[in-house]
Amino acid sequence: MTELASTAGAPGAARGTGVQVSGLTKVFSMRSRSVTALQDADLHTAQGTFLSLLGPSGCGKSTVLRILAGLEEPTSGSIRVDGKTPQELRRGHQLGIAFQDAALLPWRSVLSNIRLPFEVSGQRVDEAYLREMVALVGLEGFEDAKPAQLSGGMRQRVSIARSLILRPTVLLLDEPFGALDDMTRQRLNLELLRIWTEKPATTLMVTHGITEAVFLSDQVAVMSPRPGRVSAVIDIDLPRPRTPQMQRTPEFHAYVDQASELLFGAGGAAADG
Ligand code: ADP
Ligand code: MG
Repeated sequence: MTELASTAGAPGAARGTGVQVSGLTKVFSMRSRSVTALQDADLHTAQGTFLSLLGPSGCGKSTVLRILAGLEEPTSGSIRVDGKTPQELRRGHQLGIAFQDAALLPWRSVLSNIRLPFEVSGQRVDEAYLREMVALVGLEGFEDAKPAQLSGGMRQRVSIARSLILRPTVLLLDEPFGALDDMTRQRLNLELLRIWTEKPATTLMVTHGITEAVFLSDQVAVMSPRPGRVSAVIDIDLPRPRTPQMQRTPEFHAYVDQASELLFGAGGAAADG
């Protein structure tokens, strides 16, 4: 089993860049009870690393992302991404976020949804880059469409484009393709990979897809529940650029098996089908 220590020597970790989460604890206090979503969670990556976060439902994956995004305050622990606190990242507009429900503004067109971060951050709209991004996610011809006129996959592409439009150095994706059928998901994975390869950002993606995690990532982290923490990190030493054909190699299958075992236990759900 690959222990956390496997990332200790990762380039960048020592310089304090990438994701540097130490002793992250989050307790949600409600009127009659409290839930410890995360307890002493640690996660360290190098700058520009694509890391996928796997784990059973309710183990705290979204909470990690929401804390990194500055949408939720940690109860305790230290969080830096590329040397900055979540609030500093937000203030610097260095953060790209795309979550499962595309969360588009229904009354705005595709183009105007993707343009939104320029307006929110008070930056001059880079029209050329806006058009480039529309093309990059394959939405040419749909610039004036409203979200309701799009398929689920297209809405997710708008959401991804919007998360990338300010050229973020940090990208947080929470099951961005979770609600989509397998074929659309495969296609969007390839698009995300292409975009990320052109403009690598320090990326954290939550997903339920083990194959997808291995295919896209430099590292796959597995979380365990009660209390939520990162229990293992696998370094995915597959060459880049990644191609769909790689998914048929023994090396690829070995990584998928390793992640499945960590997630379900040896001989668990994955092995049983
Ligand atoms: P995951 O994304 O891995 O499915 P979450 O991070 O959404 O898990 O949730 C982790 C735990 O924290 C769960 O037990 C969930 O019910 C609880 N939780 C998450 N957000 C809140 C909240 N705002 N208030 C109370 N409990 C919460
Ligand atoms: Mg979640």
